[in-house]
Amino acid sequence: MYVRVLPDQASGKLLDYRVPEPMRAHIDVGSRVQVPVRTRLLPATVIDILQECEFRSVRDVVTLLDEKPMISPALLDLARWMSDYYCCPLETAVCSVLPVAVRDGKVSAKKQNAVRLAKPIEEDALRVLSARAPRQAEALRVLMNAPHPMLVTLAANEAGVSEAVFRTLEKQGLVIIESATISRNPYSDRFVAGAELTLNAEQDAAMVAVREAMDKPGRPILLFGVTGSGKTEIYLRAIREAVNQGKTALVLVPEIALTPQTVERFKSRFADMQDAIAVLHSHLSDGERHDEWHKIHKGIARIGIGARSSIFAPLENLGILIVDEEHEGSYKQDEAPRYNARDMAVLRGAKENAAVLLGSATPSLESWHNSQTGKYRLVRLDQRVDDKSMPVVRVVDLRRATRSTPEGGVLSRPLLDAMEGRMAKGEQTILFLNRRGFSSSMICEACGHVCQCSDCSVSLTYHRAAERIVCHICGHSSRAPKSCPKCSDPKIRFSGMGTQKVEEALKKIFPKARISRMDADSMTRKDSYRETLGAFKEGKIDILVGTQMIAKGLHFPNVTLVGIINADLGLHIPDFRAGERTFQLLTQVAGRAGRGEMEGEVFVQTFTPFSPSIQFARHHDFQGFMEQEMEFREKFAYPPFGRMVMITLRGTVRERVEFSARTLSRKLKAAAPADILIGEGVPAPLEKAKTFHRFQVSLRGPSSLKLARLAKDTLTILTMPEDVFVAVDVDPLHLM
Ligand SMILES: [Zn+2]
Ligand SMILES: [Zn+2]
Repeated sequence: MYVRVLPDQASGKLLDYRVPEPMRAHIDVGSRVQVPVRTRLLPATVIDILQECEFRSVRDVVTLLDEKPMISPALLDLARWMSDYYCCPLETAVCSVLPVAVRDGKVSAKKQNAVRLAKPIEEDALRVLSARAPRQAEALRVLMNAPHPMLVTLAANEAGVSEAVFRTLEKQGLVIIESATISRNPYSDRFVAGAELTLNAEQDAAMVAVREAMDKPGRPILLFGVTGSGKTEIYLRAIREAVNQGKTALVLVPEIALTPQTVERFKSRFADMQDAIAVLHSHLSDGERHDEWHKIHKGIARIGIGARSSIFAPLENLGILIVDEEHEGSYKQDEAPRYNARDMAVLRGAKENAAVLLGSATPSLESWHNSQTGKYRLVRLDQRVDDKSMPVVRVVDLRRATRSTPEGGVLSRPLLDAMEGRMAKGEQTILFLNRRGFSSSMICEACGHVCQCSDCSVSLTYHRAAERIVCHICGHSSRAPKSCPKCSDPKIRFSGMGTQKVEEALKKIFPKARISRMDADSMTRKDSYRETLGAFKEGKIDILVGTQMIAKGLHFPNVTLVGIINADLGLHIPDFRAGERTFQLLTQVAGRAGRGEMEGEVFVQTFTPFSPSIQFARHHDFQGFMEQEMEFREKFAYPPFGRMVMITLRGTVRERVEFSARTLSRKLKAAAPADILIGEGVPAPLEKAKTFHRFQVSLRGPSSLKLARLAKDTLTILTMPEDVFVAVDVDPLHLM
């Protein structure tokens, strides 16, 4: 018996090995092994089982790393597809299916002492003991109430006694202490069982559709529900349904939304089966990740919740795959393999015959398009639960608004007045700062004019050094204007509004207010997020200032005002999805207001108040936004009507990167059929990142697969300088 393996680092080479007799019963496709390659021992994945071997001398597999194959045939298949479609080496795709903490086998299960009662104890006996040895009685009482063996440390903590008390009880034969493999539970809180909520008529109908999809998978469901319409309740019930059928369920949420609040909601609903839930996300320690993964692999966990990479969680017998906020950009991985977990979920569902449920208040154009062509089934939730009204959205025109005080800077008078009013009433405010925005577009602060490419309809990027404005999709470039082409005001030269200073400015304007900031910089610890949100929930904070981090899924009944400080920063990035993102963001952020009994109000500050994304978001008009955005996408053959591949080259020597990009563009043009458009090699909007100069070449055409193959074939025959690195992004989401 022989195996064909793919070493983790061996540049895509498949190698054959003989399987020694004792391993034969356990080795299978997807098994992880160690094999000798030249003088080294390398970890590898079994790709195929062979009965014969064509080579005369073949070496032996040295170690079999796990009794049960780590990668199921279905997941291996998914990796193969990913390598082909996303244009990356197979070993990179295979490795991404296994978390590092599991792959290298260095982290092992943790053994600890657990304690349980040796025999049931009568309440009377306990009372007698309680008079004589109250601490022992308390220790026993804790165990009586525990459904499972408890960690000695935890039990001692809970009983308020020392661990020695349990040793004493062990000597008396009342309890048993044994070494046990204990999962490092990242959320060790105890959860109160959450009851099912009553469904309204729309939710009832949605559940009918979900059940139908589970009975007869094939067509994914797009659950389009406005913010506050109760999508999570549908997810929870769908999961319960799958579990009741003896199947498993996988839920993907954006990393940023995987808050303790979210996890708590799932864990409390399934409080009756705590151990059956595994949570996977990037804040876990290696040990925790290892344990959670193995809990799934062994079949103990039947519900997986996690961010992007959990799409590869080794759940078997999948009943349903749920992708919450399916439009979210964070589902796209920004390093190889550059997959989109939402799309992988649809594919995995099809391959494993599971229902797929994609949910969003602002579906992506791709998914919406699929729901219109019938590829997906559209299910709508148009009502907020309890018929709460949507918040009132007010647009503040920054071209006209009197900007408050010098300290206030970007805070307009109407917004400040509103904040003051809310504070006086003891209500809370969320201020949203769009820091992911890009300030190299030319936008006139006097009239709101934005410099755009007439062929591609994306904002042009202002490259200061060369004094030029460039379209990085088609490559067109021209001299940067000295003043606004529309109103001649020189203010087109100023950009960036000093948003970092908002927190300090606020402190000066409202010296008595309790203000907190929440962004990636201030939230570095796992618990800081939870602590700040906890304080906010308890009303200990009046104003919460934050970035994208606070836009998602938070639910605070006392928040009645949301201010969006700089709606423009995201709107005019040089990306054809800028309008879609802005609409989504405004809708999400606005959805944070008025979740309780009181009506919510939203202020959007902008220099371009009439841009469609802002106007449609203001009126909560998704349909209207979709119609006009689809028209624009179709006109310029952008996704979902056409496909795109973006190749980014980077290196420390600018000339070499530029030359390589130009050469690549020329070669692609020579090889491309008529229906594929190739852009020039031009500087990326983010021209320099860290020490690297960046250039891009775009490919556009009707099929991603064809674009990816053209890119791959051309790159294979082209010799790049050693210090120029190439990244191929198929279906790119971020064009920077
Ligand atoms: Zn102007
Ligand atoms: Zn262009």
